Amino acid sequence: MLSDIKSEMLSHPLEYYLENYFEALAEFDKQSIPMIGYFTNKTPVELLDAMNLHPLRIFAFKHPKSHQGAYERYIQTFACSWLRGILDNGLVDGYNDLKGIMFSTGTCDSLQNVSDIWQKVFPNQLTYNLTFPIQSNTAASKYLVNEFKQFISVLQDNFGWSSSFNLKESIQKYNLKRKILQNIANFVSKGHLNYASLAKITYVSDLLLVDEFTRLFRDFSAPDGKSSSSQEETPRLLVSGGMWDNWKLFDIPEWDGLVADDLSFGYRNFNYLIPETDSLESYVKSQLARIPEPTAYDENHRLESLGKQIKEHKIDGVVLLTMKFCDPDAFELVPLRKHLESLEIPYLNLETSPDLSNLAQLRTRLSAFSEILQ
Ligand code: SF4
Repeated sequence: MLSDIKSEMLSHPLEYYLENYFEALAEFDKQSIPMIGYFTNKTPVELLDAMNLHPLRIFAFKHPKSHQGAYERYIQTFACSWLRGILDNGLVDGYNDLKGIMFSTGTCDSLQNVSDIWQKVFPNQLTYNLTFPIQSNTAASKYLVNEFKQFISVLQDNFGWSSSFNLKESIQKYNLKRKILQNIANFVSKGHLNYASLAKITYVSDLLLVDEFTRLFRDFSAPDGKSSSSQEETPRLLVSGGMWDNWKLFDIPEWDGLVADDLSFGYRNFNYLIPETDSLESYVKSQLARIPEPTAYDENHRLESLGKQIKEHKIDGVVLLTMKFCDPDAFELVPLRKHLESLEIPYLNLETSPDLSNLAQLRTRLSAFSEILQ
């Protein structure tokens, strides 16, 4: 399947690769590509790549044999809908092919609980809890350097020393991937490409080997050179939220005006570049300088960045997307709303779950919001 992915990427619609996610995992395994799964966008993917391990995002895509409700044996019914979907997949062996899995403390309670469960379900995988500081200061920086050193040493113990360990080269590869995604996001802002395409490309970028992704997308250009006049009249929307990974939500005409995002697996996953050096200190510094996730304390940084995006993309309205039963998403709604009110930017709060069970209702509300903005 991976060889199919390589040769046929440009002949299949992108969703094909996302819908066959679990087959791709099995194929990576067959080709002896050691995969380490990860959940949060703060995972130091460059360190994994430098150890010749393939960092692979865990998505809540449905496994063909997924048994809805299987999660109930392990986790409370009020855990977030995203994690429940992942456990339903995991419990039917969807993630058997991973060699290890990375959790990160300093995220949410639900995710931290799943780390113990994962160890039980997949005893042969390395389960690693990386403690990522929730503040960004000198002490946090020192702490994280040590944390990363320990992480590297655990990987070495488990997977052997990679004589080719070259942090600078891995940073260069991932910077290139981020530049490609930034470029594609620009097409969306200019109205040359719809947002659903950017979402699909971004998710695929966290599935493929980084070199393969850059080879396939480095010359990507938007299908048509000019935005249509009807697009120019459509109110410009930005969607803000946390760990959303279902592109199908955006593949409906009600999102026609969507030109930018502030999502964990979207803009916040590729909006930064890291200095291309071998210095772990410099790597840590740039990781800590990134836009914080809803679980971090640095709320002002996040709000400031949202304000900048609103200006840059000439946004008329913001959609605050929240995941059902996600506490961090709910906690940050209050400051986000206050901030948008202070900027006099209209907003709409939409709550949903990865299975999009309330899609019809979301479409009605989105279309009413766009009408108000017109
Ligand atoms: S941050 Fe929210 S969506 Fe992500 S795992 Fe935690 S509760 Fe679920």
